Amino acid sequence: MKILTSLLLGTMLLLGENAMAENALNNKQKSIAEAASYAASGNQAGLKQALAKGLDNGVTVNEYKEILTQAYAYCGFPRSLNALATLMSLEEERGNKDEQGSLPSAKPKGNSLDYGTENQTKLIGAPVSGKLYEFAPAVDEYLKAHLFGDIFARDNVDWQTRELATIAMLASMSGTEQQLNSHIKVGKHNGLTDEQIAEILDIAHENAAKDVLFGFGTENTAYAQYFIGKSYLQPLTKDGVSIANVTFEPKCRNNWHIHHKGGQILLVTSGRGWYQEWGKPAQELHPGDVVNIPPETKHWHGAAKDSWFTHIAAAVPAEGASNEWLEPVSDEEYDKLK
Ligand code: MN
Repeated sequence: MKILTSLLLGTMLLLGENAMAENALNNKQKSIAEAASYAASGNQAGLKQALAKGLDNGVTVNEYKEILTQAYAYCGFPRSLNALATLMSLEEERGNKDEQGSLPSAKPKGNSLDYGTENQTKLIGAPVSGKLYEFAPAVDEYLKAHLFGDIFARDNVDWQTRELATIAMLASMSGTEQQLNSHIKVGKHNGLTDEQIAEILDIAHENAAKDVLFGFGTENTAYAQYFIGKSYLQPLTKDGVSIANVTFEPKCRNNWHIHHKGGQILLVTSGRGWYQEWGKPAQELHPGDVVNIPPETKHWHGAAKDSWFTHIAAAVPAEGASNEWLEPVSDEEYDKLK
């Protein structure tokens, strides 16, 4: 009986893991999302690393060529051409030994506007029309004939993968939320799971967070005991005024603490976060916000639950200045914040 129970338990655990793995991105999909995200933000150093990892994970050169070419429809020829140039130079460095993979089969017969319209309807699940397309009919024709005709007819990358890349690209740009939300629906219609979409968005947001103005730095292990979640530290100056760039992953915050004698100034550079003084409501922070923390004031700062967050922290110099670290900000307190 005991053996049977443990066998059953083992099988259930195994099934559970498989079900989870089926809903998550595989390594190849992750590599495509990473590369698409960096291509869209124009971060060539990040792109090069992502492409190399992807080629090691079984993405072929032709698959990457397709994704980085498709990128032009979502982020323009300059980003697409730069990304393809990065792939080309990486291939030269690697001795052009990576698997090329298959080329697309011959173009479908007929007119690209006809089969493009058909592709678009199938991809989205319904015919696409609207006031904007009546206002500017040329753009409707280009979307149908060119993007969904010429590009989506190239069959060496499937539509689900193309949508995965599109979601990663749109999530890596700003001002494209409406298109991102539409493509999340299209992605789901083409079989991407909620978990996979959440992972793609995480990849895009993390890549953007690492591309901060003053540098991402390295994981802040020295102070990790005073933080919930991971933070990253890039020291900027040490002499005179000590200034550092601090990046918090979503949900990460530091413990309640006090800067004795000198106080601290925070300059918010990216993402959304919070600052709270003891006994007062938390203040939501956005890029451009300045927080002047007086000495002897108990407070905490950190990221919002759904956003990476970066601020520059300057320690106001004073004789005998020191930091006193206190209790963590409990989940109960933190979870009240939006
Ligand atoms: Mn502080």
